[in-house]
Amino acid sequence: MVAKRLDGKVCAAQVESELVERISKCGSLGITPHLAVVIVGDDPASHVYVGSKVRACERLGIKSTHIELPADATEQQVREIIESLNQQNDLHGILVQSPLPSHMDEESLTDMIEPSKDVDGFHPQNLGRLVQGRLDGMLPCTPSGVMRMLSWAGVDTEGKTAVVLGRSRIVGMPQSLLLGAKGVDSTVTVAHSRTKDTRKLCSNADIVIAAVGIPEMVKPDWIKEGAVVVDVGINRVDDSSRERGWRLAGDVHPDVAQKAGWLSPVPGGVGPMTIAMLMENTVRAAELSVSEEEHS
Ligand code: NAD
Repeated sequence: MVAKRLDGKVCAAQVESELVERISKCGSLGITPHLAVVIVGDDPASHVYVGSKVRACERLGIKSTHIELPADATEQQVREIIESLNQQNDLHGILVQSPLPSHMDEESLTDMIEPSKDVDGFHPQNLGRLVQGRLDGMLPCTPSGVMRMLSWAGVDTEGKTAVVLGRSRIVGMPQSLLLGAKGVDSTVTVAHSRTKDTRKLCSNADIVIAAVGIPEMVKPDWIKEGAVVVDVGINRVDDSSRERGWRLAGDVHPDVAQKAGWLSPVPGGVGPMTIAMLMENTVRAAELSVSEEEHS
């Protein structure tokens, strides 16, 4: 079997094309969706991600404000920026690019973001709603992008066994909640660094979502014939055959394509979906700001 491609680029383009009309509707109400991206330090990968987010805004006619601080900026400086962005009425989404330098408390900074502007979906209020099974709030972009891609491909999730590799706040844990939510109805196992015999768990699963950060960890013998495999991992690995000396690798070995029924590529899978869902959350935040104004 050769896996069908869970093509995040194609799916993301569809999500973006559906946003165009909503953005123009906002425009007719005098509102331009507006996202602020705050980046601290000079981590090259983070700058690449922020560049992709800003370009997606430009493509769609979403206004973006890009705020860059040096690596030695203080946490207080970031707090002041978030406070001021929270107050700005013409701004609908705030994203603080992770990771922040180690001298900053990322969680407490996330807690400061006004929940209605938390387009990353990491604020406790938004994650708490997800735990309650309320899926109408701001959902974290990467796991909700995975769900959108599964639904776009027509993957049946009801009653299926799913294994999520990783339990992070950003990907693994919200992913497991989304897969187990009413209406999606998978039976979910969350594996993490202390899990015993992860290979065996995966080999019985209908759906495997890998979000670990270990290059090509998931091998073909981990995967049941015909299973759906989503590779969230983005890892830089040395590759002397490339001019730049490195390549991107996912958490799933490419040979899994010989076993799986569906497989998402890296790059071109979950990455573009994450950005598309960020755009969708920003547009949604702008739309909600209009209805809030109408009710006030
Ligand atoms: P993280 O480091 O916060 O979490 C990694 C998780 O993997 C932890 O919960 C850990 O317990 C688990 N883990 C470690 N070893 C394991 C093992 N042997 N078996 C099972 N689980 C194990 O990372 P993260 O932020 O969740 O990101 C995971 C990967 O996804 C990274 O490669 C990251 O770059 C990538 N990522 C991609 C996107 C995207 O848009 N495509 C977005 C976010 C993260």
